[in-house]
Parts: sequence; C-alpha cells; structure tokens
Amino acid sequence: MLIHTIAEVRAKVREWKKQGLTVGLVPTMGALHDGHLSLIKKSVETCDKTVISVFVNPIQFCPGEDFEKYPRTLDADRKLAEDAGVDIVFAPSAEEMYGAGHIMSNDFLTYVIPPFFYQDKLCGKSRVGHFDGVCTVVNKLFNIVQPDFAFFGEKDRQQLIIIQKMVKDLSIPVEIVPCPIVREDDGLAMSSRNRYLNDEERKDALVLKSILFNIKVCYNSGIKDVKALTETAYSYLKPCHSLEYLDFRDKNDLESKTIADNDTIVFIAVKLGSVRLIDNIALAG
Ligand code: AMP
Repeated sequence: MLIHTIAEVRAKVREWKKQGLTVGLVPTMGALHDGHLSLIKKSVETCDKTVISVFVNPIQFCPGEDFEKYPRTLDADRKLAEDAGVDIVFAPSAEEMYGAGHIMSNDFLTYVIPPFFYQDKLCGKSRVGHFDGVCTVVNKLFNIVQPDFAFFGEKDRQQLIIIQKMVKDLSIPVEIVPCPIVREDDGLAMSSRNRYLNDEERKDALVLKSILFNIKVCYNSGIKDVKALTETAYSYLKPCHSLEYLDFRDKNDLESKTIADNDTIVFIAVKLGSVRLIDNIALAG
C-alpha cells in the first residue's frame, strides 16, 4: 500500500498496534537495490508488519550535492517492496514532512543534532550538517511510524553509529537492527549512486573494496600498526581516484585508532569524477 501522508500512516499503525502486532521500519531514499532489499527481508522476517519510507530528504543534502539529480523511481520501488512483503510504502512529499515554505529554510525547523565528536570526521567532515538532517528525519520517521524495530545498513556505518547514539541518548523506544553490507559479485558495495558511474568509473570503483579487503588480509597476518596498514593501500590508487579519507576508528564511538584491534572499522571514501563512494570493513572475524 502506497501512502503519502503522515495521518494515514499513523491511522494504519494504530490499527496494527491495537491488534498487538509488531512493526518494523526501513528508512530509505528509494532507488531500491538488493542492499535495501536485505533490510526489508530482515524486517519482514522479524516483524508482523513492515513499513518502508521512500524519501529523498532535502535537509541531509549539502549545497552543491546531488539532491536534484538523486534517482527517483517510486513505481519500481513500490513494486519491489510489495513483492518483498512490505505492508506500507510511505513516500511523503517534502511539504508533508517539513511544511510548505520551510523545506530548505533551516532557520525554521527544529533539528536533532548529534554530538560534534561523531560529526567532525569521516563523511561529516566534508558533508557539514548532513547528520543533523539524517537524525532529524529518522527521529521524525520514528515518531510517525513508532516502530518496534528499525533496520539500518552497515554500508553507512557512521550513520548507523550516530543513530544508535541518538536512540540511546534520547531514550527512543526502538531497537536498531544493523544489517551487513550487500555487495555486487565483484565486491563493489551496492549503492543507489553506483548508477552514476560510467563503464570506466565502474571498474575503477573496485579500488574501495580492494583496499579494504587487503587491509583485512594484512591485519589477519599480524600487522596491527595503522600507519603500516594504511601504506599498503596507496599502491591501489590511480590518478583517477581522489581519496577523501581512509580512517581506522572504533566501532562504538568512532574514536581514532593507532593500533588496529577487533573493535576497529576501516572507513574509506573515494571520489571518481563527480561520484563519491563510501565503504567500510570490520577487522574482527
Ligand atoms: P539509502 O536509500 O541510501 O539512504 O539507504 C537506506 C538504507 O539502506 C540505509 O540504512 C543504508 O545503510 C542501507 N543500505 C544501502 N546500501 C546498502 C548495502 N549495499 N548493503 C546494506 N545496506 C545498505
């Protein structure tokens, strides 16, 4: 069922709750792929009812980013989601979420702002204000849907950690379920933005997984020094790769690591032409 208004979602969820049913939420920006579908599958398995949101959230895009050209494929998304067992596809307009006139006017919106320490690194460094927009919309979706469980991909690991922090700090009554990264057969992490890549860039995009997988092999062979592990990565980079960051951080609080351990996540962001790709790997396991 496709719903565009907050009131209709609330009415439907109220009915479910009266029947004692559990509700799962999968927040997305649409252009669904198998990564999203893995979250949906997990929700359908875990919960009696599943709601997915399809909303290209204007307040999480920075000036000059791809908000206008972000792929919007609602009809196809709806079909994929319903075939996968989703009960409600919630696709609100920006006006429905933020009110006419206030959409891009941040001065007139109440924001949820995660701690600076979580924001001033990795993606937050180049995407200033991005996580304010993410936390605000996710908090709002939690209030609209009131899910028992919400499903987030480890693909956006900084986002996942920040949302876990928000839920804990604000005592939001929802259980966050992390879901593993789904990759293409050749190892590229699936992303709605992969469709921006031309053939050459698609091949060059494998650099992210090559660097991460190699670091993990080196770590497993006994190299723990982050400087040494970082050096192994540079041989993979070609002039077409603009490395934004390669960073070793703690999986719980994003603290920087100088010696890698089993709590370490390696994060990478690379720009290929105008396309910015991110990936990460846990060194444990
Ligand atoms: P997005 O539509 O890009 O905002 O993503 C919606 C949700 O899907 C987020 O929780 C993402 O982390 C998750 N997701 C996106 N790509 C993948 C992937 N390749 N594997 C697992 N989860 C993913």
